[in-house]
Amino acid sequence: MRVVHSPRHRSHDPKHELADGEAIDAYEVPERAESIRRSLAADGAFTFEEPTEHGAEPITLVHDPAMLAFLETAWHDWVSSGETADEIFPDTFVLPALREGMGPVRAPGTVRGAVGMWCFDTATPMVEGTYAAARAAVDVALTAMDLALGGEPSTYGLCRPPGHHAARAMFGGYCFFNNAAIVAEQLTRQTGEPVAILDVDYHHGNGTQQIFYGRADVLYVSLHGDPDRAYPYFAGFADETGADAGEGANLNLPLPLGCSNEEYLAHLDRGLEAIAGFGGSTLVVSLGIDTYGRDPICDLALTTEVYHEVGRRVAALGRTTVVLQEGGYFVPHLGENVRTWLRGLDGGGLDLSALPDV
Ligand SMILES: [Zn+2]
Repeated sequence: MRVVHSPRHRSHDPKHELADGEAIDAYEVPERAESIRRSLAADGAFTFEEPTEHGAEPITLVHDPAMLAFLETAWHDWVSSGETADEIFPDTFVLPALREGMGPVRAPGTVRGAVGMWCFDTATPMVEGTYAAARAAVDVALTAMDLALGGEPSTYGLCRPPGHHAARAMFGGYCFFNNAAIVAEQLTRQTGEPVAILDVDYHHGNGTQQIFYGRADVLYVSLHGDPDRAYPYFAGFADETGADAGEGANLNLPLPLGCSNEEYLAHLDRGLEAIAGFGGSTLVVSLGIDTYGRDPICDLALTTEVYHEVGRRVAALGRTTVVLQEGGYFVPHLGENVRTWLRGLDGGGLDLSALPDV
């Protein structure tokens, strides 16, 4: 399988996120992607290539151009206005109620204020190299798509930062640009066919759902921790099935606390059935491995073996598949869990011999 990877992800190197009123060590760190790269490199079944540049247009087909402009200049503007912090966090969020009955929002003249127009949480700091890394992740995703359209049955884009929480005009959840949505949009344009997205990250991909919620030509299927208890809390419910022309093209499969491999596979089969009944020849997978039982920000009970089976069942759809990395935070096993998933997809055997004993 061909893997697209860029070392530019390392320039997004946040040190903190805010949780329970405190700054804690960031979970979404460069070592995540490096651990995946090492596991795949040690397996002769994967070949690596660097992304090609695709420019800003595929991004602005999915995201508000004003958000792209903010992200592009935020660090420069932050520093040139005399700010000294190494990480940009919002401190004030423009909830609709803030200006209820008072007319439209005006964009603040400072990054400190304006970041609260675009970022929806306190887990997603911007640092000096964030924009470059986020742009590289989009190029990684689009290059993996190019390879698939060129005839590869399945490809993998080692995207970092991840993307599925980024909505049309909002970033957060460690995500800046929605890599999977950008690829799905391009696939609809380049193939003229409908496109399915399967999101198996532990967290609901609120951004992907929002972007395509009114669209009939993109099916979004997500398995995730029930938003009743799990981030992002405000989207991902089973009764969210799409709007207007998109009615019926959104399938949320919330998972119970402590979900076992067997329960998980039963939910997966429902999602795959919906995909099989939807048109088109291509599939985008948002591959999060934070469903793992040992993940520090997850509450399911999956083990490594299930990832091979999930990959195998996805392959059985018989679609050209572009797999893009999302979350996964138990770093000691992250690389091997991703490798196991991709080997299942690629028809390789289950091999647990390289799983570190930690
Ligand atoms: Zn996640």
